[in-house]
Amino acid sequence: MIYLDNNATTRPLPDVVAAMSEAMQLCWGNPSSKHALGQDAKRVLAAARADVAALLGAQPVEIVFTSGATESNHHVLHGALHRPAMPRRIILSAIEHSGYMKSALRLRQEGVEVVLVPVDAAGRIDLDALRESLQQDAALISVMAANNETGVLQPIPEIAAMARERGIPVHVDATQMVGKLPISFAEWGVDLLSLSAHKFHGPKGVGALLIRKGLSWPTLMSGQQERARRGGTENLPGIVGMAAAARHARSCLADEALRETALRESLEASLLDQVPGVTIYGQDAERLPNTVCLSIAGFSSDKILDRLERKGICASSGAACSSGGSDPSHVLLAMGVPGSVALGAIRLSLGLDTHATDIAAVVNVLQELCRPEAPLQNPAAV
Ligand code: PLP
Repeated sequence: MIYLDNNATTRPLPDVVAAMSEAMQLCWGNPSSKHALGQDAKRVLAAARADVAALLGAQPVEIVFTSGATESNHHVLHGALHRPAMPRRIILSAIEHSGYMKSALRLRQEGVEVVLVPVDAAGRIDLDALRESLQQDAALISVMAANNETGVLQPIPEIAAMARERGIPVHVDATQMVGKLPISFAEWGVDLLSLSAHKFHGPKGVGALLIRKGLSWPTLMSGQQERARRGGTENLPGIVGMAAAARHARSCLADEALRETALRESLEASLLDQVPGVTIYGQDAERLPNTVCLSIAGFSSDKILDRLERKGICASSGAACSSGGSDPSHVLLAMGVPGSVALGAIRLSLGLDTHATDIAAVVNVLQELCRPEAPLQNPAAV
């Protein structure tokens, strides 16, 4: 099998599995308990917090462990509207993750003004439109660091500076960037940041919300845990697994980013050269090292994915969460791609296990797919 769906999820590393197994067997106390077993768990939790903070250029006290980016994003969204004396107006890029976007748009029914900031044809946020949207007060601005479908990066420090000038809290969904490129929560100057462990070789169902030190953000789940910012007994095995994944990412991130960029560039060059009718979305923008979003003229995404699948290659159409749906990607639509064309888009997302032979195999399959069928022979002439 060739796995090219690393933006949907990644393989948990052996070190992650071992750390989780050890935590479950040896460190199963409740970190809130005062006895020795609980205090052991509390120490392990603190060490994991430090490891995750180190990967993100954040302080350990800024980390709130959650069940993943979906929860973190919703904590940000609903928290923003529960802060005292905040305007009922929020600003989002038009290409935020689909679940988050849907929840934000649903708030319109409750009278919240939801402003969507457009992107250009390459998927980069329109900074003039953003500046314009910031003229009026808002309770929140959310922009994702790297898009899950196209891999296109946004200029987060610049966006944060614009929002800070207006005193509007800035949230970044960095789920796709963590573990793929360096991140500095402190240097970016943002207030809130979301992530999920399973996108960088950790376990599923665990992630974090970073809340800038000194910023008070309403809690959605009351309880004493996580400094009363997120109630509920901590998922210690998951958190320990995320910390192991964070340590691994820190140790190899720079080299791996270079290696995957080289593979992605060779994949794109071969596709453009050898497969007729290929369009690569966001090609002119700065992108994640691992992500290629493409379509092939005349082929639906189902047809392409089916052929890849039959050859043992796992990929997906746009966001994994909307795979199987029949709606075109809101991200590609926002980039001005016509709906009928966007329906043909697929995403290949490389990872730690991707090698040059895998790239050659994909190119080969897509080349074969596009090769004109041999003309049917006239049985009478045989
Ligand atoms: N945000 C982005 C950018 C994502 O790519 C994803 C997952 O695909 C999420 C949020 C949601 O992550 P999870 O399903 O782990 O909560």
